[in-house]
Amino acid sequence: MSVIVIGSVAFDSVKTPFGEVEKAIGGSATYFAVAASYFSSVRLVGAVGEDFTDEHLRVFSGRPIDLSGLQRRPGQTFYWKGEYGFDLNQAHTLAVQLNVQENFQPELPSHYRSTDTVFLANTDPELQQLMLEQMDDHKFIACDSMNFWIENKPDQLKKVLRSVDMLLLNEAEARQLAEDPNLVKAAGKIMQLGPKHVIIKRGEYGALLFSPDSVFAAPAYPLEFIYDPTGAGDSFAGGVIGYLDSTGTFSEANLRQAIIFGSVMASYNVVSLERLASLSYPEIEERFWEFKKLSHFDGIESAPCQ
Ligand code: AMP
Repeated sequence: MSVIVIGSVAFDSVKTPFGEVEKAIGGSATYFAVAASYFSSVRLVGAVGEDFTDEHLRVFSGRPIDLSGLQRRPGQTFYWKGEYGFDLNQAHTLAVQLNVQENFQPELPSHYRSTDTVFLANTDPELQQLMLEQMDDHKFIACDSMNFWIENKPDQLKKVLRSVDMLLLNEAEARQLAEDPNLVKAAGKIMQLGPKHVIIKRGEYGALLFSPDSVFAAPAYPLEFIYDPTGAGDSFAGGVIGYLDSTGTFSEANLRQAIIFGSVMASYNVVSLERLASLSYPEIEERFWEFKKLSHFDGIESAPCQ
């Protein structure tokens, strides 16, 4: 079992009300790969610049992450600068420099071309499409995107969505893509674009899974300290997709379990990338069971209404 991912490998400068970091390792594919690698093997596709050294690559080392699809190209690595206010659910982009991501032509190594589970992490939808076109075989395709691509490449994104089984977006992006402020209606409209399942990420309020005949709501883990939410959406996706791939089953019941594993990984990510990268399996499992307790209640036979 393996997951293939295309996305950004980046340097991020992030400001929160609690502090600031300059040019830390980030990127949608980075966070995704680290989180998913606890569940399955990951084949990464992306590009970095000459400023991304072997020392930076150590974030992936010791994990089942295949980097033969990661190109080092002349120029600078993708750069994102963002800011969070006290509402840590919403990142405000201050700068994006595509750098080596611009004019990047992904070339899949031959052993990548048949991979069961595909994740199109947040990146240029044209790159997502180019990767799909090079694949010979796959079972399940999931995709993420953001306001930047919804605004700048809406047609290319909609083309990708026609092939996608599951889309993950945060709530503002879902409203924006569907042009509907109501999340239930927005999910329905997004399904009409292609995906059978839509996961709407709601930061500290959890996530909603919309499927053709049902809706499932998962909480987020109530944490007293959230230092930096950057990458939480990508590590959530890593937990969801990594778990699904490890079981090889994409049933509704399994999707629900997967969302809880996604929420577990996101809850560790908001501390730091280093914390995410240094987890033990018992820590993941323990928090999974805490999630079960968090939303458990005993049903009563009949509601005490007159
Ligand atoms: P999130 O999981 O939503 O917090 O994603 C944060 C990551 O997305 C950061 O590490 C950024 O490097 C990356 N990112 C931000 N903007 C873009 C973009 N336009 N394309 C690809 N990746 C991006």
